[in-house]
Amino acid sequence: MNVRQLAFGVAFSVLIAWAGYRGRSLSRSGVVGAIIVGTLTFGLGGWTWGLLLITFFVSASVLSHYRKDDKRGLAEKFAKTSQRDLGQTLANGGWGAVLAIAYFCRPDPILFAAFVGAMAAVNADTWATELGVLSPTPPRLMTTGQKVPVGTSGGVTSLGTMAAFGGGLLIGLAALVLGQVEAIWGSGPLNGGYLWLVPIGILGGFGGSTFDSLLGATVQGIYYCSQCQKETEARIHRCGQPARHLRGWRWLNNDLVNFSSSIVGSLMAGLLGWLVF
Ligand SMILES: [Zn+2]
Repeated sequence: MNVRQLAFGVAFSVLIAWAGYRGRSLSRSGVVGAIIVGTLTFGLGGWTWGLLLITFFVSASVLSHYRKDDKRGLAEKFAKTSQRDLGQTLANGGWGAVLAIAYFCRPDPILFAAFVGAMAAVNADTWATELGVLSPTPPRLMTTGQKVPVGTSGGVTSLGTMAAFGGGLLIGLAALVLGQVEAIWGSGPLNGGYLWLVPIGILGGFGGSTFDSLLGATVQGIYYCSQCQKETEARIHRCGQPARHLRGWRWLNNDLVNFSSSIVGSLMAGLLGWLVF
């Protein structure tokens, strides 16, 4: 057990979580989630793993603050505010932390590819959500192509799809650069073939965010606040009123959708990794 690396992991996670709390990207329970996820990812995966998690965290935080005033009215439908809580941090980083534990037990390049896919999936989904709402054209439901109001779960726009592509690409490029730099120091996560991380990131991001939209359009639990006359992903609307169940499975909330999307993104990325590494 590399105690020094684990200590670095704890210190780094606390630092990032504190910055996230100060920058209003994390709630108090979100700080706890970020420290758990960060310590496992950084402490058991290593530098490249930890810095990829930070790449996601920073890019997601920047985008959720981007044009915040324009998004305020549009964001009614989202389950939560821009402050991430425990459920959201585990939904976004939990599967990556599980992969870090597996990698610690058996350092296999395919597990690293799967981790890149998991990070790409949550990053792509965040980019698609945060930028897609600013689309000048109304979204269409992924399953039927029917026009739906902005912010509807399962609604897709070309801007959101391009944003998802960009979110996956960023993680792939970051994995390429960080992994290569760590390899120069002597302990990279792969034995070469780092360029493959770019298509692996794009595939993970695209697969994860597509699955996310698909669940949103079909089985995700969707509620309706009769007071505000708005559709929402939350049982209790942000106005404080309990919302009535409209469609989908009640237990399948936004956090579970994000978590399962990160698993799908990592499976697709892991499959490509299995083919090329
Ligand atoms: Zn309401």
